[in-house]
Amino acid sequence: SAPAVENVDVVVVGGGPGGSTVATLLAKSGHRVIQLEKETFPRYQIGESLLPSTIHGVCRLLGVEEKIKDAGFMPKRGGSFRWGKNPVPWNFLFAISPEFAGEGSYAYQVERMKFDQILLEHSASSGVDVRQNCRVNGTEQDERGRVVGVRYVDADRVEHHVRAGYVVDASGNTTRLSKHAGGERIYSDFFQNVAIFGYFEGGKRLPAPDSGNILCAAFDEGWIWYIPLTDELTSVGAVISKSKADRLDAQESTLRGYIDRCAIVKDMLSDATRVTEGTYGQIRLRKDYSYANTRFWGNGMVLVGDAACFIDPVFSTGVHLATYSGVLAARSINSVLSGAMSEERAFGEFEGRYRREYAVFYEFLSAFYDMEQSEDSYFWKARRVTNLDRTDLAAFVSLVAGGYSGEDVLTDPDQIVEKFTASTRALTDATEKTGGMDTGSGQRMGHMFSAPVVRDVMEEMNALQARSAVGSNGVEPPLLEGGLVPSADGLAWAEPVAVTA
Ligand code: FAD
Repeated sequence: SAPAVENVDVVVVGGGPGGSTVATLLAKSGHRVIQLEKETFPRYQIGESLLPSTIHGVCRLLGVEEKIKDAGFMPKRGGSFRWGKNPVPWNFLFAISPEFAGEGSYAYQVERMKFDQILLEHSASSGVDVRQNCRVNGTEQDERGRVVGVRYVDADRVEHHVRAGYVVDASGNTTRLSKHAGGERIYSDFFQNVAIFGYFEGGKRLPAPDSGNILCAAFDEGWIWYIPLTDELTSVGAVISKSKADRLDAQESTLRGYIDRCAIVKDMLSDATRVTEGTYGQIRLRKDYSYANTRFWGNGMVLVGDAACFIDPVFSTGVHLATYSGVLAARSINSVLSGAMSEERAFGEFEGRYRREYAVFYEFLSAFYDMEQSEDSYFWKARRVTNLDRTDLAAFVSLVAGGYSGEDVLTDPDQIVEKFTASTRALTDATEKTGGMDTGSGQRMGHMFSAPVVRDVMEEMNALQARSAVGSNGVEPPLLEGGLVPSADGLAWAEPVAVTA
């Protein structure tokens, strides 16, 4: 007999942070949502270093902030870098950014098995019908080619059909559904890297207050991440150019080889042993992970997170982009399902904001990789900036904390007026504590600030600070020309109201 067909408002494919964000926000808005996940959680995933925008912005909007706080993850106050040709490491603290000054000046390093499970369980307790061990193996289309549902197979290999107004593809980098939105995946010409990673016990920690920082250390062939997950456990991965890694195997000796060529990480691991059992006992390899789809929505489908795009591990933007796009997608779906606006208007805003966030990080990370350029290259000389002012520094940290969009929902609306004064203080503190960027390698940051897109970001940051300083009461102007603004509860879009002077 033909299988029974269920009907819901939205089907979300994938139980990662992107999927749980969009599903939770849709359920909170009263929609019927089924979220399908092929694995049984906890399941392994890479992407352990998070940004404050995810913790203090999205997690708060989801209502899961307290559960995350109680989970005991390693607090991450910033990043430590040994980058460029200069041997001197430098730190940045999130406290330096105006959006995340004070309470929000940290993020976490997380074991994704735990973090993702908390979000998925929260999705279920928010009213989402979460089904694990259910693999989606295709979409269903109506006679005009619009996606109107999915087929999935449960743990007993029974096939099911679900019909929905929208299908959200949050199934990550291995998605086989994203093409049904009408676009295709384009791989980056610039980011063609390979990552090989594993786990160690007993690795050293940076001195306080930087002990929870991510350490990123460049060496001749690439760079290594060193992420303290607990007091004992450290995630270590080498990112190298694909061209230098053609015949790379997921073997301990390969990873060891890179560690041995990276003095600072070699030293950090001098008393450590590699974990060889359980989920963390495997050496893993990832490649072909830098791409973007040509369409983020279409035909009744919406792509969020890695199903849509990913750039590169440096600066830990993956979960930020996944959860932020989840928020944007939920707003657009809510706005259409409530009849408030057309698909084009609502999803145009989704795609516009999402692409903008992706693009600025893309440019920024490209510029960051360019710092490996030889110091006497023309490129380098032409862009040298010797003195960074504090505004630039704050803008830099706002960006790498995930506060670039200037969206209140990613920061803390209650702090918007206090932010400006707090930021000045935090900036002074942090600069004194860390030596800021006034080191040789700090100067090297300079050429990044002259990249046009990063300039734009900084101008926008300044405007944001100025708005905060005069007290905007949390009313945001549209981010895109002719675009929409978030509704008061942050869960949908609204037409901007003309402000009278
Ligand atoms: P995922 O977390 O991949 O979740 C997708 C889910 O969908 C999975 O649980 C999967 O089982 C499920 N699924 C897949 N197919 C189906 C199907 N057919 N049916 C049902 N379910 C399905 N990001 C950071 O923020 N910080 C970092 O430090 C960082 N480091 C990284 C290092 C490397 C080497 C790489 C490659 C990435 C890194 N990332 C990092 C990026 C991060 O891993 C991803 O951006 C993030 O996991 C994306 O979340 P997501 O929810 O989109 O997808």
